[in-house]
Amino acid sequence: MDDQGCPRCKTTKYRNPSLKLMVNVCGHTLCENCVEMLFVRGSGNCVQCDTPLRKSNFRVQLFEDPTVDKEVEIRKKVLKIYNKRDVDFSSLREYNDYLEQVEDIVYNLTNNLDVENTKLRMEQYQRENRDIIQRNKAKLTREQEDLEELLLLEQQGNEQRRLEVLQEEQRQLQAKRKNKQALLDELRQTVSLQAVPKIEEVLYHYKPLAVETYGPPVPELEQLGRLGYLNHVRAAMPQDTAGGYSSALACHRAIQDALSGLFPSKG
Ligand SMILES: [Zn+2]
Ligand SMILES: [Zn+2]
Repeated sequence: MDDQGCPRCKTTKYRNPSLKLMVNVCGHTLCENCVEMLFVRGSGNCVQCDTPLRKSNFRVQLFEDPTVDKEVEIRKKVLKIYNKRDVDFSSLREYNDYLEQVEDIVYNLTNNLDVENTKLRMEQYQRENRDIIQRNKAKLTREQEDLEELLLLEQQGNEQRRLEVLQEEQRQLQAKRKNKQALLDELRQTVSLQAVPKIEEVLYHYKPLAVETYGPPVPELEQLGRLGYLNHVRAAMPQDTAGGYSSALACHRAIQDALSGLFPSKG
């Protein structure tokens, strides 16, 4: 296989894999960079065959053989005029003759054969068939529209089905939740039916905690002031009392510590 490349700058796809080859109506290839350079003003002549070309008519070359690209473009143009269908002919024979004519025209234009006469033939055909060309064009548009409407309907159908599936899922979820609720209710009823056994017992009575300190009795907190103990401790500052502290409390603790454990243990 030949390596494809630009005939002007000789860059090949082998050397530059991102090389973009363009082809114009005459079927000759140029790379994108050469097109930019040679057709800066929007038009110019083909380097190979001198045909006047517009820059805007350059297309990316889709086929390895650039004449195929050319033929595709030409065929598109020809079929815009030659848009008759089998129903437009009274016999298959006539229709086949017509198709053959179309192929001749495409072949001539692609291969630069008898170009002037071929173009004249096309113009004459266009003049003589103006009405039917117009009608078939409209028909084609209508068919296109019908197709689009069909697609739209199908899309809407899909959307409808999707919604239905979603709703069904929602219903099942709700049913599941309902079942669960019913089960819970049933359970609750069963539990509440069973009488809670009453516990007959004596009420609780509070008894102050008796702490054995193994020492002489400690005076009550309230008596400390009267007994003169508080004269020997630092008076509480106002900021100390915020948390509930009082000098009597500290004093009481100190006396408890001092007096506990003074008697020998009986054990
Ligand atoms: Zn080039
Ligand atoms: Zn050319």
